[in-house]
Amino acid sequence: MRRRVRFKGMKITPKTLEKELIDKARRLADDPSLLMPECQKPCKKCNFDKLLDKMEKMSRFKGDPDRLISLAGWGDQLVRAYAATISLAAAGQIPYLAVMKLPVGDVSYAVRGKVEKEKLIGVQYFDDPDLRLLAFWDIARRDDLHLYSSTNKFSCSSEGPSAPAEYVEEMLDSAPYKIGNECTCGHPASTTKLTITWKSTGKTISVCRDCLTDENLLHHLSSGIAARDPTDDFEVGVEYSLECRSDCQGCPVEEDFRMSAALKERYASGQIGDRALADGFVEERTSDLRRSNRTILVVGQDCYGSEIDSFLSRIRGTDAEKKALRGLLETKDVAIVSGSDQAGKILADLWTGHSRALLEQVASKVVVDSILKQQPNLAPSQLILEAARLESAKGIHSSLPTYSKLGEVGRYADRMARIYKTEGRAAVARAIEKERQLDHRMRAVSYAFLTLAGEADAKSWQFSKEEKDFGTYLSQFAIRLAEGEGDEYNEALEVLVMASGSIEEIVRAK
Ligand SMILES: [Zn+2]
Ligand SMILES: [Zn+2]
Ligand SMILES: [Zn+2]
Repeated sequence: MRRRVRFKGMKITPKTLEKELIDKARRLADDPSLLMPECQKPCKKCNFDKLLDKMEKMSRFKGDPDRLISLAGWGDQLVRAYAATISLAAAGQIPYLAVMKLPVGDVSYAVRGKVEKEKLIGVQYFDDPDLRLLAFWDIARRDDLHLYSSTNKFSCSSEGPSAPAEYVEEMLDSAPYKIGNECTCGHPASTTKLTITWKSTGKTISVCRDCLTDENLLHHLSSGIAARDPTDDFEVGVEYSLECRSDCQGCPVEEDFRMSAALKERYASGQIGDRALADGFVEERTSDLRRSNRTILVVGQDCYGSEIDSFLSRIRGTDAEKKALRGLLETKDVAIVSGSDQAGKILADLWTGHSRALLEQVASKVVVDSILKQQPNLAPSQLILEAARLESAKGIHSSLPTYSKLGEVGRYADRMARIYKTEGRAAVARAIEKERQLDHRMRAVSYAFLTLAGEADAKSWQFSKEEKDFGTYLSQFAIRLAEGEGDEYNEALEVLVMASGSIEEIVRAK
């Protein structure tokens, strides 16, 4: 919006406003051409000459308010508004001001004669580039004109859009972005851009995605134009350049793509702003590419065709995430088009429709079933990690013997060894910390596993000297147990129990 100091800057008292309106009425009374647009060429379609003629005749009665008010009662609405307005100058006072609510704020104006209020406001504020258009909208529509209203020029074109330099300059200067021909913000040249081609001026304005806001540049540029369609001189586009880095045949990213009429319409009607338009376009482009039923891998603005390795090396994520992606891509034709290089984000995009297939790349059906049942609310990436972890734990458990009977030491050692194998050292330390042992023998055994977990030094103050000495001795058996599988594991467990001095039975399950 062009800044209108009168409404935003100072407080206007009714007295100063009255004086201002009368002052302007006086100028109009002397020179009605102040109100009228200037025709760019001799116009055939507009009748501004004729209207001006009538106003000039009327201005002869500028000292006669009653005559003017009666003249404001018939004929062309614009001429009537002129008569009504210059009658204010003749009367020298305005006892009452009406108010109209407009998007720019409340506007006060004087009611005289039987005249449309838009016409009265437009005429009484003839020097305001936005408000004066109120008087000309219907004329522009009726006569199919393009009227350009800027601070220093009010211009009429009857042969289609033809923006005068003054208008263009003012609109670009007051635009919500610094506009040269290119966005000079320093954002990378490759980023997505909003482009508006102003056809009659031969200019293309381009603003990068990172600079765009909720403003609507098209609306701004056309806000001073009265016409059947003030935006008909502009071609709105979004530049979203994708580059093929592979040798894919007939790469779809290089095909032409046009934004949907619906998106264009939402923007042109002002329902959405510049950034939403750019993002909406990228979204349309992206979902169009995703619909192609061939493997196409696009990250950011780079297409890797069907080259899974190059694609995965561009992605950031854990081994499990990449394994899931690779497995899916090797078994199904999937189009991945992602603005992000984060595996988690890509998995989330693929989740609907591919969740099970992705999980089954890292875990068996049984594990996938149980995980989906027990933790359905985890994020896709976390589910993948959890599935991979459970699967490897499952593999470990099946390599270990199971027991139908264990004593206190045996049960404890077996549990710690399994935690170590499936979840690692830190988990062992946590498990030990959680259940402090009271009995000396058990305290020594737990010290042995603390040694395995690498936490013995840090926690040594919790143990007596005897417990530590005994635990250190037992730690060699704990380590053997933690590293064993099958029969070796069983043996290590028996040795550990025996070395602890506990007399307890160890019975393997059949
Ligand atoms: Zn004209
Ligand atoms: Zn920029
Ligand atoms: Zn390609």
